[in-house]
Amino acid sequence: MSRVVLVTGGGAGIGWAAAQHFAAGGDAVVIADIDGDAATARARDLGQGHVGLAADVADPAAAEAIVAACIARFGRLDVVINNAGVIDSGGTPFTDQPLDALRRLLGINLLGMERVSHAARAVMRTQAPLAEGAPRGVIVNLASGAAFRAIPLRNGYSASKAGVVAMTRAHGCAWAREGIRVNALAPGYIRTDLVADLIRRGRVDPSLAESRIPLGRMGTPAEMAAVAGFLASPAARGMAGAVLIADGGGSVYGGSDAAPVQRGAAPRPAPDGTPCHVVAGADTALGAACVRVLTASGANVSAIDAAADLHAAIAAAASRFGRLDGLVNAAGTDGLLDPAASTASQIETHLERHFLAAQAAGRIMLAQGWGSVVNLTSTAGQAAGLGPDGGSIASGAIGMLTRSMACEWGGSGVRANALALGPQIAPDTAAAAAFLLSPGAGYITGSVIVMDGGLSIHAGPEEPNPWH
Ligand code: NAD
Repeated sequence: MSRVVLVTGGGAGIGWAAAQHFAAGGDAVVIADIDGDAATARARDLGQGHVGLAADVADPAAAEAIVAACIARFGRLDVVINNAGVIDSGGTPFTDQPLDALRRLLGINLLGMERVSHAARAVMRTQAPLAEGAPRGVIVNLASGAAFRAIPLRNGYSASKAGVVAMTRAHGCAWAREGIRVNALAPGYIRTDLVADLIRRGRVDPSLAESRIPLGRMGTPAEMAAVAGFLASPAARGMAGAVLIADGGGSVYGGSDAAPVQRGAAPRPAPDGTPCHVVAGADTALGAACVRVLTASGANVSAIDAAADLHAAIAAAASRFGRLDGLVNAAGTDGLLDPAASTASQIETHLERHFLAAQAAGRIMLAQGWGSVVNLTSTAGQAAGLGPDGGSIASGAIGMLTRSMACEWGGSGVRANALALGPQIAPDTAAAAAFLLSPGAGYITGSVIVMDGGLSIHAGPEEPNPWH
């Protein structure tokens, strides 16, 4: 049975790309857009079995009506892509911003999204999951890099998106117990009408913006659609109330010069043919799971034990297959939260092993102009109290090593990300690593993606997190 996916603001930009992504995967799509003509035309473009409807999410009655339309047509609602949003492109200083303009932004970007979420939750929490182990529902909220970094003269927009992040945390932790998985996607600059409008008004200089992005370019709506697809998939089961930043590394770049410097070959897409991936630390439980998942995907996989000579083994794998597409670093993941392990041993078995493997792979990937590194580490680097000092320190340091790789390597098209895992490793974590190696994750770099079921962001009295 196919899922029923609601995309608000699906008439253009990221929303339209998301609608196409889900429809191509066999889901039934409902597009709700303030531009009703665009919504119906787009639904028609998707083919039979998809629906377009006119709805202004700022209208307090709209959310109930949209969700009721989904139920009337399909009898259920599995995924909501809360995408409808507008920007304040007028360049009004904070001191001159009329309250009405702020209200309009918050009414669409924040209150509208909150009402759609509540209306969806009301039906999701009572419906049966589509399959055993599946969630009752998934909600993906479109946040923005502007939620984390202030942009002068775009104060209302940034505030609305910071509110979206806070709402995602709250809903993600509270609704996980009901079988509803809520997370956010925070895009950087993506080439859509919204950004074209900012460029037209002189509010964004594209070459200046791109010079601060390690990957050296803006993202595409299709790339954001693929990330939304991942967040709605079982591979994202470990995430609750989390934010996945997909911005080409723009938000983690801290250098004083422009970012995109080629350290090796010019970036180029991976050539056709079978990809080659290396799993370092294949003798850990997670590493072994990654070997299984990547092998099942049809890739050539080289499984290397954590204690091996990593430089020699990775170079040998790359020369055997004539390329190196991906590295998954799993060394040290078995004992990360072991209270008996000293800080020095955690640094040696986890951080230093990741460092050596990434260094070996990075050299090869920089020379070829493509590649992706995924560092598996612990969420103990993100919050206090999740484990002994050693695991926390090594994990926090690995997060920053990952960002540094992303910033140094982006100019040559090589990406680096980390998965920060909870003490209970979610099923399907290896599939998340596989996604980060794939072209669908092409605009994600420098991200530390927290997959701990909401543990590190949860300050409430109850346990947050069955895996959904
Ligand atoms: P877009 O302007 O290209 O498309 C937005 C769509 O939403 C349009 O079809 C529009 O008609 C619809 N819409 C606007 N107001 C609505 C309302 N009140 N009710 C229902 N539909 C409405 O925008 P985009 O660039 O695709 O952005 C989509 C989302 O991604 C937004 O939430 C935006 O804030 C976020 N985002 C975009 C970027 C970017 O660089 N493009 C970056 C970060 C976040």
